[in-house]
Amino acid sequence: MIAVKLFFVIVVSIFLVGCSPKGQTPPKAVKGVLDLRDWDFDPSKGSGTDGIINLDGEWEFYWKEFPVGESLELPADNRDFIQVPRAWNGHIVKRTTDTGEVVEETISGEGYATYRLKVLLKEGMDLGLRVPAEATSYELYLNNKILDKLGIIGTSKESSYPGIIIKYIKINTYNKNLEIYILISNFHSARSGLWKSIQLGLYGTILNLRVTNISKDIFISGILFIMGLYHFSLYYLRREDISPFYFGIFCMLIFIRTLIMGESYLNILFPNLNLSWSYTIEYLTICLGTPVFIEFMYSLFPNEINKNIKKFILYILLIISLNVVILPSLHFTKILIIIQIILILSILYGIYILFKAYNNHREGSNIFLIGFIFFSLSMINDILFNSNIINTGLYAPAGLVAFIFFQSYLLSSRFSKAFTDAKEQRQLVQTAKEEIERLNCTKDEFLANLSHEIKTPLVTIYGYSEMITLEENLPESTKEYGREIFKSAGHLNSYMDDVLLVTDLETNLQLDKKPVLFSELLKDSLRTLDPFLQEKNILPEISDSNDITITCDTLLFGRALGNVLKNGIVYNQADGTLKIRAEKKGQGVQISVVDSGIGISSEYHGKIFEKFFRVDSNLSYEVSGVGLGLFLAKKILELHGGSITVSSELGQGSEFVIEI
Ligand code: ADP
Repeated sequence: MIAVKLFFVIVVSIFLVGCSPKGQTPPKAVKGVLDLRDWDFDPSKGSGTDGIINLDGEWEFYWKEFPVGESLELPADNRDFIQVPRAWNGHIVKRTTDTGEVVEETISGEGYATYRLKVLLKEGMDLGLRVPAEATSYELYLNNKILDKLGIIGTSKESSYPGIIIKYIKINTYNKNLEIYILISNFHSARSGLWKSIQLGLYGTILNLRVTNISKDIFISGILFIMGLYHFSLYYLRREDISPFYFGIFCMLIFIRTLIMGESYLNILFPNLNLSWSYTIEYLTICLGTPVFIEFMYSLFPNEINKNIKKFILYILLIISLNVVILPSLHFTKILIIIQIILILSILYGIYILFKAYNNHREGSNIFLIGFIFFSLSMINDILFNSNIINTGLYAPAGLVAFIFFQSYLLSSRFSKAFTDAKEQRQLVQTAKEEIERLNCTKDEFLANLSHEIKTPLVTIYGYSEMITLEENLPESTKEYGREIFKSAGHLNSYMDDVLLVTDLETNLQLDKKPVLFSELLKDSLRTLDPFLQEKNILPEISDSNDITITCDTLLFGRALGNVLKNGIVYNQADGTLKIRAEKKGQGVQISVVDSGIGISSEYHGKIFEKFFRVDSNLSYEVSGVGLGLFLAKKILELHGGSITVSSELGQGSEFVIEI
C-alpha cells in the first residue's frame, strides 16, 4: 500500500506542476502586439520559468486575405483581432458587400486568412519557434521573409494540401522586433486556424523541449506497448479470463494514439502519412477504445454493468467509426463534439459502476476506482485542452500509465494471493495425506491384531465342528449344524488369513522361490476349489501345460492363482465354462483364465485390484468376500516381478491374464 500512496503523491505532483503557472506571469498579446521586453528567455537566470513563452493573446486577423507584394501588404480596413490559441470557427468578421454595405459574418471552419503578430524584444538573440500542426496548412513569414511552411496553402480545396507535422524552427534574426505573418488555409478539417499555442524561446531551450516531448511520448508509448503485449500473454496463458485480452487491446489502441498525438512521432517516422489518415487513426482509437474499455470493465464487474447501456455505447460508437472510415476528414471531424459527449458520459457511467462495485465489495474495485479516477481526470483534461477551454497539455496517456500501475498492482496482489492460497492448499493436502497414511497403518495394524485374536478361538471352533461332523453317534441334524459351523469357520479363517497376508505383503515379505510344475500348482488349487466347482457344476477346460515350470513362492503364487480361479467360478453362471491356459512367453509364462460369468464393466477394471473394493451387483451380495482376493493376487504377482490384467465386458464373461 505504501507504493500506491507514493505513486499517488508523484502523479498528483506531476498534474499540479503541469497545470500551475510557474514564476513570472507570461505576457499576452494585445491588439496584435506582444511585448516581451521584460521577458527573461534564459531559464538559468532564475526567472522561475523555462524561458519559453506561448505567443497567445490578440493577433491581427485578416479573413480571406493573403498579403501581396514583397512587403506583405494587407488591407488595413479588413483588419480584425482574434484570440490565439483558438480555432477561428464562430468568429464574427465585418465584410463590405459589393453595394458598399458593411455586414457581419460568422465564419465556419473552411476558408483562409492571415494572422499577424508583432513581438517586441529587449535585444536580438538566437531564438526558436515550436509551431504545432496549425489547421491545416500554413506559410510562416518572419520580418517579410518566408521561414517555413506546412502543406500547401490555397484559396480552395483543390489548390491547397493539408499537413500535420509539428515544426521546430530556428529564427535567424538579431532584430529587436519580430513581425510574424502566418498565412493559413483550411478545407480539410472542421476546426481551423491557430488553434494551438505557438511557443517562442531560446533556440537551445526549444530544441530541449523537442527532445523532452519526444522522449516523453516514446517512454509512455513504450510502456503502453509492453503492457499490451504483457496482457495478451496473460490471456494466452489463462484463456478462461478474458479481461487481460480487452485490456491488451485497449493499451495497443492508446499506444497507437500516443504516436499520433503529442509530438506525432508517427508522422516523423512516416512523413507521407497524410492528415486524413492521421485524423482517421486518432478518431478510431477513441471510438473503438471506449467500447473495448467497457468490455474490459464488464469482464471484471459483470453484475454492475447494464448490458443495454453497454450495447448502446458500442453500437453508437461503431456507427461513428464507420463514418470516420467512410467520410472525408472535413466531415467526420465535425462530429468530434458528439464523440466527446459520449466519452464524458461513459466516464461518468464508469465511475458510477466502480462505486457500485466497491459498495458490493467486489474484489479489487477500490484500487481499480483510484486508477480509473486518475485516468478519467486525464481524459477530461485532454477533451478540454483539445477544445481550447484549458491550456494544460495532453495527459491521457500519462493517466493511462497511472491506471496501468494500479492495474498491475491489482494483478500482482491477485497472483501473490493465488500463490499463497496454492501453497496453503498444498500444505493442507500434504497434512491430509500424512494423516490418511497414518490412519491406514493404524487400521492395518488393528485388523492384523484382530485377526490374530480371532484366529485362536476360530481354530478351536474349526476343530470341534469338524469333530461333530465326523462323530458317528450323533443325530444327522446335529451333524448338519456341525457342517455349517465348519464351513463358516472355514470362510472366516480364510478372511483372517487374507487380512494377515495384506500386512505381511506390505511389510516386505521374503519370498521362498523354487521351480515348480504349473500343472501341479493348478491341480492343488482346483482341489481346494472343488466344492465351488461342484456347486456351480463347472468342469474346467485346461489346455495342455504339462511342461511348463514356474519359479515362484509356491504358497503365495498358489494363493494368487487360487483367488483368480475362485472368482472365475463364484462369479460364473451354473453350468458355465472356465478355460485355463498356460504358455511360455519370452522368458516368462503367461496364464489366462477365461470364464463365462457376469463380466465386469470397464469403469471398474482398474478398481477391482484395489484393497477392499467390490463391484456393486446382485451376485456380489450373494458371493461372500471382502474385496481382498484380486488385491492380494496383484501384490503377490508384483513381488514376483509379474502382473495381472483383466479384459471383460458386463454380461460377457471375463479374462484374467497373469504374467510371471
Ligand atoms: P471379492 O471376490 O472378495 O469380492 P476380489 O478382489 O476377488 O474380491 O474381487 C473384487 C471384485 O471384482 C468382486 O467383488 C467382483 O465383483 C469382481 N470380480 C472379480 N473377478 C470377477 C470375475 N471373474 N467375474 C466377474 N466379476 C469379478
